[in-house]
Amino acid sequence: MGFKKRRERGKGLKYSLAAVLITMVAVSAVWLLMVKFEGRAPEIELDMSDSFIGADAAVSGTITDEKSGIRKLWIAVIQNDRETVLKEESDFSGTQQGPPRQRRFEVDLNAGKLDLKDGKALLRIAAWDHSWRGWFSGNQAYLEKEITIDTQPPRVEVISRQHNIRPGGSGLAVYRMSENCPEHGVVVGDHFFPGHKGYFDDPELAVCFFALAHDQDRDTKLHVQALDPAGNAGRGGFYYHIRNKSFDAEPLPVSDRFLSRILPEFQSEDGFPADAGALEQFLFVNRELRKKNNRTILAPGRSPDEQMHWQGGFSRLPNAARKASFADHRTYVYNGEKIDEQIHMGIDLASVSQAPVPAANAGKVAFVGRAGIYGNVVIIDHGFGLFSVYAHLSRSSVSEGQMVEKNDIIGGTGATGLAGGDHLHYGMFVHDVFVDPMEWWDSQWIQNNITGKLEHARELAKNN
Ligand SMILES: [Zn+2]
Repeated sequence: MGFKKRRERGKGLKYSLAAVLITMVAVSAVWLLMVKFEGRAPEIELDMSDSFIGADAAVSGTITDEKSGIRKLWIAVIQNDRETVLKEESDFSGTQQGPPRQRRFEVDLNAGKLDLKDGKALLRIAAWDHSWRGWFSGNQAYLEKEITIDTQPPRVEVISRQHNIRPGGSGLAVYRMSENCPEHGVVVGDHFFPGHKGYFDDPELAVCFFALAHDQDRDTKLHVQALDPAGNAGRGGFYYHIRNKSFDAEPLPVSDRFLSRILPEFQSEDGFPADAGALEQFLFVNRELRKKNNRTILAPGRSPDEQMHWQGGFSRLPNAARKASFADHRTYVYNGEKIDEQIHMGIDLASVSQAPVPAANAGKVAFVGRAGIYGNVVIIDHGFGLFSVYAHLSRSSVSEGQMVEKNDIIGGTGATGLAGGDHLHYGMFVHDVFVDPMEWWDSQWIQNNITGKLEHARELAKNN
């Protein structure tokens, strides 16, 4: 009995061992096939969104291999049957978790150093993983991309002449670029004003409305800048003259009566210090809220209409007295003490209460709504970056996207927002800089500085 039992037990042991062995072999086979002989090639992803390579460029991207990890990477550039290897790297030392699953790469592509000529070339990238497939050489990924090497900066020729500008003033430049540049415009100190094509038949002729901010001085440098698709920058100098301009200082008394009248309107604004005293609440409105509201007003300047809607001088609220000027330096005085200072970014005009407000010129309504200290606001896009702003309105009679003609009634004056009484705050801006509307109310100024330049450029283009 005992022997038999032992024999049976031994038999059972043999079967178990065989089963374990078979399982181990099967598992190993599956492991070899699934893991060591995995058939998924690495993925190559380039960071480039277009095919242009500038004078001193770099090519970068990511290699990913989820299964066995990256083993080798090879990058070359081919031009006129000549292959230049930019990178060859293998045996990526892995960590305890094995070879890297993802790897970033970046290679310099300096056309001069690599003796590459301007024109077409081919970028070739190959990557291998740690799979045992293909006699242990791994799965291979391969990527080819046609590139255009362009090391020449675009040439910029400024066509317009005599650019007279002053702080808070506007200007126009017309220029021609030697190639199709996706980005171009006028640099004014640390401001960039994008230019616009499409005004002239000549596709490389562009117009750019620019401005000198009220706080930029006579030492500000101006030039035209153009970036070609490969990122090469071209510059065009032009003659300009910056005139002096000083702005008025204006004391503004703040009374308790004024505060208790205006503050309730701002209770629901984000960040309003509800538990603070009236003075602190006023300072929040005059400082933080003003900054935020200025950003809201200037926001349409980032995507102006690519069309010049307006013609001739801009109109001014009729039968109205000017109560405050552009860039007035306001000192706020409370109980005989200076509590704040701000710059006034428009012109205040007072007529009769709820007077009808005409559109200063033709354009497209870009904004209708509330904007904190400015109350009810309408903004008109006149095209190519020029906008007009109508604030403190009691009502508006237009909607966003609507086209308006010069002198169409867009609303009525009021005292919404931070206003001492019924008036129109009329503002203008060029892209993202507030400018003095006085220039735009002056037909002679417009002829000398804007339309005259456009006519002159059109004549030159015709004769070319
Ligand atoms: Zn104002």
